[in-house]
This record gives sequence, C-alpha cells and structure tokens, in this order.
Amino acid sequence: MTTTITIPAGAAQLPRWRGLLVPYVTEWTSHGQPMWPTITTPEYGPTKSCTCRPGHGEPLFTEICGARLREAVTRQLCQTCGHHVPGDDMVFLGGHGSTVYANAAMHADCCRYALQVCSGLLKAMPEDRWYVAAAVGYTILLQVKDVERFVPADERHLHDGPVTHWYPRPVITSYTRAADWLAEQASR
Ligand SMILES: [Zn+2]
Ligand SMILES: [Zn+2]
Repeated sequence: MTTTITIPAGAAQLPRWRGLLVPYVTEWTSHGQPMWPTITTPEYGPTKSCTCRPGHGEPLFTEICGARLREAVTRQLCQTCGHHVPGDDMVFLGGHGSTVYANAAMHADCCRYALQVCSGLLKAMPEDRWYVAAAVGYTILLQVKDVERFVPADERHLHDGPVTHWYPRPVITSYTRAADWLAEQASR
C-alpha cells in the first residue's frame, strides 16, 4: 500500500494547528472551556449550540463541536472539510454493521485522509475495528433531552426538550474494513 498522504482539495482552507489540518467539526476552545448555550432554530426549536470559533483558541481533536455537527448533519456537509457531500461520494466511519452514526458523512478522499492522520480516531477504537460504510444518503435521528430513544427528525414537534445530538442513519451499500478500503483507494 502506498503511504502517500494527499490533502483533500476541499480541505486545504481548513485552519491548521502545529502543522495538522483541523477538521470542520472539531471543537475549539477560546475561553479555556467549551461553552454550549441552548439556541432556538426555526426548523428544530431549542437546540444545544456552541460558541467556539475555528482558528480561535486551541483545537480539541477528540471532541466534536455541537454547532458544526448540527450544520454538517442537517446540510449534508462533510465532517472533515465542511463542503457538501453528494450521494455518489459518501462514506461513514464506524464499527462493522453500524446503522446509526455519531459523526457526519465524509467524502471518500476526506475519509482516507482522516484514517491516515487522525490520532483521535485510533484512540476511540483500535485500527482493525474501523469499517468504512459506503452510503447513498441518510435520514436524521435526534437525541432530545429527557427522551429515552432516538427521535426521527420529523417527530421533533412531539418533544419540547433541546436537541443535544444529531445522528445520521445512512442508506448503506457496503461495509469494508478500513485497512482494506485504504488499500483499494490507493490502487485506484
Ligand atoms: Zn464548538
Ligand atoms: Zn470532505
């Protein structure tokens, strides 16, 4: 397998920290600690948000920004580069057989980059446990405060509490072990 690491075209404008690109969804802290106010959005009502600003303060590579995760999941943006992900170039990263994901979609190129450079991923789960799921689209499940189950986005009006997390439920066409998927990508 080649070990060439290419920065995805759409990710070149991301802020950098000590030479590393900082993914779109990564949390930043400008005040010494993250701040998560509840805001009201027109579509989803009360929603946990965040006041951090990319490029200000320090990136927290193992934490995801609630505000940018919401943007990414609701607008079908890539969690790495922040640009739109079309259904013919969409992957999710998780365990084998995962059907609901805690992270947003990615472009294939951005997923490859993340697998090659992101040490936070390897802390979350050993390398041989990661699978790349190819998907053609997704619906959205919400975590709503004080509700004990996932709430489909179109049932949001039935619950008052703030939305605290956003989960894509992709329409998956295949799962490939991450190491095998990287090898396939390198040989294309
Ligand atoms: Zn944030
Ligand atoms: Zn991307």
